[in-house]
Amino acid sequence: MPTVLGLEGSANKVGAGVVRDGVILSNCRATYVTPPGHGFAPGPTGRHHRRKLLGLVGAALRDAGLRPRDLDAVAFTRGPGMGSPLAAVAAVARTLAQVWELPLLGVNHCVGHIEMGRLLGRAPDPLVLYVSGGNTQISNEPSPGYNIEVLARRGRRLVELPYVVKGMDVSFSGLLSHLQAVTPKLLESGEATAEDLCFSLQETAFSMLTEVTERALALTRARHLLLVGGVACNRRLQEMLRTMCRARGAELCPIDERYCVDNGAMIAQAGWEMLRAGQVTELAQSGITQRYRTDEVEVTWRD
Ligand code: MG
Repeated sequence: MPTVLGLEGSANKVGAGVVRDGVILSNCRATYVTPPGHGFAPGPTGRHHRRKLLGLVGAALRDAGLRPRDLDAVAFTRGPGMGSPLAAVAAVARTLAQVWELPLLGVNHCVGHIEMGRLLGRAPDPLVLYVSGGNTQISNEPSPGYNIEVLARRGRRLVELPYVVKGMDVSFSGLLSHLQAVTPKLLESGEATAEDLCFSLQETAFSMLTEVTERALALTRARHLLLVGGVACNRRLQEMLRTMCRARGAELCPIDERYCVDNGAMIAQAGWEMLRAGQVTELAQSGITQRYRTDEVEVTWRD
């Protein structure tokens, strides 16, 4: 029964989790929180992860009821993500793998999100929509995306915003700039409230995603849609996709929000698949890569 420790730290969350044959034994996490209105810079985020990670590894082993010798491999996020946080986590992963004499598994972060979704969604061959948020700078208390979601619930009026879909591609470039440009006038004249603007932002961005996902469902004839990534927690996005799926006779897989947000267990799960396929990462090849595309990964563990 292969048991894998997974370490994640590509952005402001750092985590350690243990997975054994599809069972999540532990999932410990810490978040680097900055003052409202400030994003997280790579340097301080990396320092935060360095301070937290060993404690999280200890907690993940304790929660799982395991000792290091019960582990079969150490998985870690190779990329994509921010340099300093990635490097901090990779250094810990390499050290633990050498001290404990375990194979190292360098995981693509996006593949981690997808594999965790596949484990929990339990659909045989789903279409996957992976929605990940960048960092907006409006106010991050408790978190920017969630603040917009809460305000948007009280929005009534839809303000027209740039809607860019070409075939299967979406572009959000210019969406926030446009919103920022029109906001003072709309608020001053009373034409729209902050709630209306949040509502419009969500409706526009999520409509774009729903449109291309519907096209993909039509093309692939998939019966199940799997929604993964941090933005999968958004209830409005879930609702829009569920409605679209129903109209097409497809089904939105259940979403477990604990595992949508970046976490160590998802890296352990993708690592477990890699280990099973014999796709081990040599120490010399274990360097981090900030721009690690999903399609650069050779997925040898699926047909
Ligand atoms: Mg992520």
